[in-house]
Amino acid sequence: MEKGFILWFTGLSGAGKTTISKIVAEKLEKRGCKVEILDGDIVRENLSKGLTFSKEDRDINIRRIGFVAHLLSRNGVVGITAAISPYKAVRNEIREMYENFIEVYINAPLEVCEQRDVKGLYAKARAGEIQNFTGIDDPYEPPDNPEITCCTDKENLDESVAHVISSLEKLGYLT
Ligand code: ADP
Repeated sequence: MEKGFILWFTGLSGAGKTTISKIVAEKLEKRGCKVEILDGDIVRENLSKGLTFSKEDRDINIRRIGFVAHLLSRNGVVGITAAISPYKAVRNEIREMYENFIEVYINAPLEVCEQRDVKGLYAKARAGEIQNFTGIDDPYEPPDNPEITCCTDKENLDESVAHVISSLEKLGYLT
């Protein structure tokens, strides 16, 4: 059996966190890992229902996700998180607090994410229909030293997934 760890995806909306994390989860399961995905949108519907997108509430949301990912990882499960997690300080807080934390920066320029507009949210944010939208009128602070980076404007999905898996092997989390 493989050991548990926290695979922490961060990046703008539409960068590819959900898409990559799902395929990575499938690959890990095929290799005998137990995996659970804590997707940002799903967590906000359940664990964090009622929280806003203020900095304070975003930080609360991220601490909750970090705590659950920690519970999973210490029990031998790969806790994959796929939330924007825009603030560096709280990501680093999670990194300091819990063992086996691997940060995966899903990097795509804002223009590319906005062009994709997977959920139509960028158009709404530009039209002023939603506020505090990351990248438009709310900050995104990229990680300084992520263990893994995927540039999804330059790689296709297969390449990004392969890069995550091979990085986990190099880091010693997969045999
Ligand atoms: P997020 O979860 O970060 O908000 P999504 O995964 O929902 O982003 O959307 C990412 C979009 O980008 C999808 O439509 C996906 O098909 C596309 N895409 C293009 N290249 C890649 C890549 N290398 N990795 C992941 N997604 C990609």
